Parts: sequence; structure tokens; C-alpha cells
Amino acid sequence: MKILKYHHMKDYSNMKIGGIAKELIIVEKKEELKDIIGERENVFLIGNGTNTLLNDAAIDKTFVSLKNFTQIKELGNGLVEVEAGLSFDKLIDFMEENNYSGLENLSGIPGSVGGMVYMNGGAYGTEIFDCIEEIEVLDENLEIRRLKKEDIHFTYRKTEIQEKKWIVISTLFKFKSGFDKLKVQEIKEKRESRHPLDMPNLGSTFKNPEGYFSAKLIIEAGMQGYSVGDAQISEKHPNFIINRGNATFDDVNKLIKIVKKKVKENSGVELQEEIIIVER
Ligand SMILES: Cc1cc2nc3c(=O)[nH]c(=O)nc-3n(C[C@H](O)[C@H](O)[C@H](O)COP(=O)(O)OP(=O)(O)OC[C@H]3O[C@@H](n4cnc5c(N)ncnc54)[C@H](O)[C@@H]3O)c2cc1C
Repeated sequence: MKILKYHHMKDYSNMKIGGIAKELIIVEKKEELKDIIGERENVFLIGNGTNTLLNDAAIDKTFVSLKNFTQIKELGNGLVEVEAGLSFDKLIDFMEENNYSGLENLSGIPGSVGGMVYMNGGAYGTEIFDCIEEIEVLDENLEIRRLKKEDIHFTYRKTEIQEKKWIVISTLFKFKSGFDKLKVQEIKEKRESRHPLDMPNLGSTFKNPEGYFSAKLIIEAGMQGYSVGDAQISEKHPNFIINRGNATFDDVNKLIKIVKKKVKENSGVELQEEIIIVER
């Protein structure tokens, strides 16, 4: 493993906001995780940082990165084991090369496979759990275990992995055959036309409350384009907050609070953050 003391974390969040962390550990072997987690308090597993807002002050945490865990193993019969640090777009590339189908609707999501599994990431009617058979985790007792999908609770953007603070090491997927290239093209075009991809952002800021779309609630509350400092509710997609250049952690947090208040006043609906906020 590689231990980087007092590491600047700005480039570890897609929002391009982040202060100096106590340490960042780049893990090389899964067995190292037991000691890393067992010997420390206040540990945060960072994936591609595409859903995580980091404080820009000193962060009293050990960040752990599995970015070197990128292996893909084919086991036959459409079973494919994928390590957690692999970028999800690389998995889509692999599926295309090997004519596997099942996750095309999720193409263009910039997270890691581990981050996607942790959040049960999804889009356009598909969730990553749809294609999962088993997950290998480091559990709360520091045991490396393989869990079958039917033994894991999961729902919309929520999994038992979050509650139990498990670390996803690898995931066994079951794919059908017949990669749908046209679907991927169509989804990528949709994303490019709807999302503010030219600015740092963390995707959807809020979960969609049951029966509502957060973006619509935000527009109806008159908050589209509203900004605090350089943090702005995107004009293009009002459930995205963009960093126009020098947004601070406080700017983003203030903006989130204001939007929640305005939406509550306007529609009575309570928005809940989808993004993960690392305070200190
Ligand atoms: C432009 C854009 C579009 C997006 N579109 C979508 C979308 O359509 N659908 C969607 O669901 N999301 C979307 N997202 C959000 C984000 O990409 C996903 O939530 C993704 O799953 C986060 O993965 P990550 O590796 O970046 O996680 P991070 O932001 O690094 O971490 C998120 C959480 O996952 C945990 N985590 C990460 N890796 C592991 C692991 N190996 N084990 C345990 N915990 C782990 C972290 O501790 C943290 O709590 C979008 C983001 C952006 C920027």
C-alpha cells in the first residue's frame, strides 16, 4: 500500500473542491484492508468522487482508494467478476468488446464500479443491482465475505452496504449476450444534451422523492440558475449543482440549504441529498 500524508483531495472529488486530508492510502491488495480499517478511526472509502462533496478545510480522515483494483475476470455463462476500483465506463467498454448486455442504460455514469454498487446507481429504469449475483465485501467484523444478492437489502439508491459500512472489493455480474450499441449511443447523447458536463458537478444533488422529480420541484420553486458564490443550480439540469470555478464547500452547502427551504415552502416536499457530504 502507499500512504500519502496530508494529501490534497481536490482532484479526488468531481466537484473539484477538497482540502488537505490526514492521509490517503492507495491499497494494493485486498488483505491490506483489514489492517487499514482495523487500526484507524474515521476512514472514508473514496471511489471516483463523482458523488462526493469534500470539505475544503483540513479533513481529519484517512481516505482509502481502491483505484488499483481494476481486474475483470470472465467465469463463463455470462458471469463476470469485476474489481471495485474499475471505472464504470471501462466496464461498459468491456461489455461492448465481449458482447454482453444488461447495463447499457447506465452508460455515461462516471463513477467506479464499487461506488455504483454502494449507491445502487441507476438510470433510465435500470439499476446496477439488476445484473448482480454476488458481492465480495470487507464486513463490519473485518472479514472478507462473499454475499449473494438475495441476502443483501437494497432499494432506490440505498443498500445495506451503506448501513453496515462494508467495503465493496469486487462484484460478480451476470450478463446476457447482445450488447446494445445503439442504446448506449442514444443514452450518451441524452446525457450530453441534458447534463452540464462541461463544469465540475456531482450528478443529481437530490434523490427524486416518491412521485416527484427533484429537478421539476427546483424549477417550480424558482431556483434554476440560482447561485451562492461560484456554486450554481445548473440552468441545464436544475438537480445538478455546478462549480463555476472557485466554489467553496460552504457555497455548495448554503445553496443546498436554500434550495431545500424554497422547495419545501413552495411544494411542501422535503428534498433529501443524494450526494455524500464529507464534513470533516
Ligand atoms: C455527470 C454525472 C452524472 C451522473 N449520473 C448518475 C446517474 O445517472 N445515476 C446514478 O446513480 N448516479 C449518477 N451520478 C453519481 C455517481 O456517478 C454515482 O453515484 C456513482 O455510483 C458514484 O461512484 P464513485 O466511485 O464516484 O463514488 P464516490 O463519489 O467516490 O463515493 C460515493 C460513496 O460510495 C462509497 N464508495 C465508493 N466506493 C466504494 C467501495 N468500493 N466500497 C464501499 N463504498 C464505496 C463512498 O464511501 C461514498 O460514500 C452521476 C454523477 C455525475 C458527475
